Amino acid sequence: MTQLSDDELIRYSRQILLPEIGYAGQAALADGRILIMGLGGLGSPVALYLAAAGVGQLTLVDFDEVDTSNLQRQIIHEQHNVNQKKVASARERIARLNPATNVITHETRLDEEQLSDCVQAADVVVDASDNFATRFQLNRLCHRHLTPLVSGAAIRWEGQLTTFDFRRQATPCYQCLYPDTSQADANCAQNGVAAPIVGAVGSFQALEAIKVLAGLETLQGRLLLLDGLSMQCQSLNLTSDPDCPICQPGKSD
Ligand SMILES: [Zn+2]
Repeated sequence: MTQLSDDELIRYSRQILLPEIGYAGQAALADGRILIMGLGGLGSPVALYLAAAGVGQLTLVDFDEVDTSNLQRQIIHEQHNVNQKKVASARERIARLNPATNVITHETRLDEEQLSDCVQAADVVVDASDNFATRFQLNRLCHRHLTPLVSGAAIRWEGQLTTFDFRRQATPCYQCLYPDTSQADANCAQNGVAAPIVGAVGSFQALEAIKVLAGLETLQGRLLLLDGLSMQCQSLNLTSDPDCPICQPGKSD
């Protein structure tokens, strides 16, 4: 286990005070390696909170560049980062926030094998992507490598999130929830999105990732739905689809 320095004990003192985290939990965060897929509206608070909380290593994956229309909600990026690669912009901001965070960046589209290696090397994967193809791919790779997956999405005034802890037996997967029927992506460019709703979902994703590293109970088996307009929040129980091609024995890839 990593030994925390005196500076770290001060820096993370408010978190170490929580009995559920304590010294051991903070050391687990320092040893933690988290892959963040997408540095947009969800990935921004995920990366900022995980770096601030003392997670040792963040791997950032995004091939996109910062656009002016991103700045309304993708709060890790600033005005001067427009036209820069998102991962370069995020790396710069994280270095200012917490220089101790080890940041690995991938700014080109990874092929299946490269992404598979990244998933295998991670303790937790946070899906902060904006399309079904990536969500299905991450789900498949996380299931294959038994890597916990924190999944989130937000559009308009609504958000949802859950954690699939594939280290456990018989856990449902993302494809149990959404069968792969090549459905069209509903994106923010066409539907709009209220900035704080991606902030809320992303913050909760960071919280889930921290709890996975600290060995605490997560949303595993439940889907949390947030409606920012009516301020209603509900949680649905998730069950495995017996015909799921990803997670059901004999039907797996
Ligand atoms: Zn499944």
